Amino acid sequence: MNSWQFVGNYQIATSMFDFEGKESAVILIIDDSRMNQMLLSAMLKEMGQIHCANHGEEGVMLAQTLHPNVILLDVEMPGMNGFEVCKMLKQQPNFESAIIFVTAHSGSEHEVRALDAGAVDFITKPFHDAVVKARVSAHLLLNLQTHYLRNLVNLDGLTGVFNRRHFDEMLAQEWRRHLRAQQSLALALLDVDFFKRYNDALGHQAGDDCLKAVAHCLAKSTKRPGEIVTRYGGEEFAIILPNTSQEEVLGFGHYLCQQIAALQLPHPDRPDLPFVTISVGLSAVLPTLQSEPKSLIAAADAALYRAKEQGRNQACLGKS
Ligand SMILES: [Mg+2]
Repeated sequence: MNSWQFVGNYQIATSMFDFEGKESAVILIIDDSRMNQMLLSAMLKEMGQIHCANHGEEGVMLAQTLHPNVILLDVEMPGMNGFEVCKMLKQQPNFESAIIFVTAHSGSEHEVRALDAGAVDFITKPFHDAVVKARVSAHLLLNLQTHYLRNLVNLDGLTGVFNRRHFDEMLAQEWRRHLRAQQSLALALLDVDFFKRYNDALGHQAGDDCLKAVAHCLAKSTKRPGEIVTRYGGEEFAIILPNTSQEEVLGFGHYLCQQIAALQLPHPDRPDLPFVTISVGLSAVLPTLQSEPKSLIAAADAALYRAKEQGRNQACLGKS
């Protein structure tokens, strides 16, 4: 197995991220030469999304928004050179990219300087197709592994969506962010209807499969950046919805109900319908210094209770 196939397999292993569409490899090339950008892009195009920056400032800016797994950084550039760019990159909070220097100079003195500056490796010009691919894929794999392991602690083992611990952290973090920006933060709390009866009728193995299918569908149904699907407990899920108002959120709840019903997962023991459905409670609030995230949860929870009371397979909006 060559290293590139290994990266491919690794991406399958991390498919629990893939289905949310938020985790494919990103490579950033910072080089003042368009020719080098084109050559490297062509060699690496199968490994992930490629982005290019023409100079150091642009590279630092792009790295901040793209969070690349690997950065190929030209040493010889007008303006900020590669070493200066590297220093700036390393000062960014949460910087986790692997930096590979690209240079026309070879020799131990340059190698040492590159590694001292915080690079993980370097590639010399003129480019050697096989060498470039091997080095980049090795560092890509390492970076993905590190990222994967770091995320593992925040994932629910059964469904692959985030766990309760991550939910608590993210809700507190989003609450503070929305308080500063004075924007509306919304929450969806949802629950599989008649899940106990489903388990009793089909067994716990089938119950687990049902939860996986629901989690997968929820993850696919949340497409906006920053939306976080979590398993809240048992057959309950919670979705954090940034920058979402009271007016918008109920429509999203209806949409989730439709998406789950459309799966047509057979439910053999319920009085009303022959398939699996969910009930959804929603709430949205403009955070204030006096209020707390738990008020948002309480409002969504009360709305969920109402959705159950009113016959299930529906979404209700709570007041917070
Ligand atoms: Mg150059």
